[in-house]
Amino acid sequence: MSIPVSKNEIVTAEIVGLTHEGEGVGRVNGFTLFVRGALPGERVQAKVLKVKKQYGYAKMLEILEASPDRVSPPCEIFNQCGGCQLQHMSYEAQLRWKRQHVVDNLQRIGKLQIAGGEEQSGVIVHDTLGMHDPWRYRNKAQVPVGMSGSSWGQTHPKGARKEERGTADVGELIAGFYAQGSHRIIDMESCLIQDERNDEVVRLVKQIGRRLGITAYDEQSGRGLLRHVVARTGYISGEMMIVLVTNGQRIPQVEQWIESIRAELPAVTSIVQNVNKKNTNVIFGDETRVLWGNEVIYDELDGIRFAISARSFYQVNPQQTVALYRKAVEYAGLTGNENVIDAYCGIGTISLFLARQAGHVYGVEIVPEAIEDAKQNAELNQIDNTTFEAGPAEVVIPRWKQEGNKPDVIVVDPPRKGCDSELLETILAMQPERVVYVSCNPSTLARDLRVLEDGGYRTVEVQPVDMFPWTVHVESVALLVRKFVGGTV
Ligand code: SAH
Repeated sequence: MSIPVSKNEIVTAEIVGLTHEGEGVGRVNGFTLFVRGALPGERVQAKVLKVKKQYGYAKMLEILEASPDRVSPPCEIFNQCGGCQLQHMSYEAQLRWKRQHVVDNLQRIGKLQIAGGEEQSGVIVHDTLGMHDPWRYRNKAQVPVGMSGSSWGQTHPKGARKEERGTADVGELIAGFYAQGSHRIIDMESCLIQDERNDEVVRLVKQIGRRLGITAYDEQSGRGLLRHVVARTGYISGEMMIVLVTNGQRIPQVEQWIESIRAELPAVTSIVQNVNKKNTNVIFGDETRVLWGNEVIYDELDGIRFAISARSFYQVNPQQTVALYRKAVEYAGLTGNENVIDAYCGIGTISLFLARQAGHVYGVEIVPEAIEDAKQNAELNQIDNTTFEAGPAEVVIPRWKQEGNKPDVIVVDPPRKGCDSELLETILAMQPERVVYVSCNPSTLARDLRVLEDGGYRTVEVQPVDMFPWTVHVESVALLVRKFVGGTV
């Protein structure tokens, strides 16, 4: 087929879908053009930017016919910032899209039949559980630091000459976000999905840094000190942690930093330094030390207290986390006697929710500090029917199997890449009655469900939970049961 569009051409596209990155999927004479900012059901005028064999990219010029789901993005910097992708879509439409995204993946990748409409049998995919007030929900800010007016800082003023930019000592400290698809830092004072308390911390640390003449790290030269400011707030406790990620051990005038933070932000209970000297996108380095206060902050989910250290994973939307974990516990179907494994357990959050209703819970997690937190958390809540071990789930759980551990329920909550195939094989060999799969990525969820289905499990239902309003991220929890309960598989 010949390609019906060419670069720089202005075309009219019918938008028929939304990619998992939130771009509109447009059609022009059967050819696919991805148009950022366009919504399904719209007709837009767009300029073709790039053409490949199967598809191309176009920039939206004008909306000829708007979707009823279109809203005007409340955040001023929505178009520049890569943090949110769906602020131009009503919240209800996002929730619908997120469910459909799960359904599409389960069908296309998982080859699963979905119940609904005429179809009685198949997997039940529930409506996405949304938030009442979907703003200011994040308990953690991770903000890159740069210099204004520098080659890695803000946009250059028009006409600025080359030699006027690019040294580490020009301009002042800025902290904000990377402009979409780049590493150019744009200064930001407030983020609408961020807990206001975190915004305040970042603003203050920035001011102190400016006052003390601290340099920002420059990716290109590898020079400068401050790389990231990470702020975490305990949603219930109100305790706050600040992590200064630095490109070196020494922080000049560190006592003044601490003093100023303590004087101006009494909610801060922990100030931590993390050293990262590597030229990498990864935020944290290997070395973490407490500059002042506690090593952890405490927070509470559904009446359980958690100690959270700087590098441990902890869900960023505390209100929705409770909904997600309750659903996971409900799917586990516990009566008080069950032997449960919680794989990818982090600081033991789901493990402790499960332990309240199970016989014994075994948690495994790859980050040793998180396992230390998990053990401390069990103790903190006087929950004594748990065992935690650090290591890769795909190594530790096969060993548990050899040692005779026979779980009734296995819960998994892997990172985006999904479960290791070794682990899936072990789950099949262990034959638990139920598997509860918590997933932050519908495509790897669908891939792994197919393996479990082929190994004798049936996916009963899936509950999408909106953990990240205004972004394209889709979280869900799935319940699988063994097909031949009581028999051999
Ligand atoms: N269930 C926890 C954490 C989920 S995030 C919670 O809800 O808070 C996924 C976790 O998997 C992270 O803590 C990460 O460190 C861990 N992880 C990544 N790869 C792993 C592996 N191969 N084995 C065990 N844990 C792993």
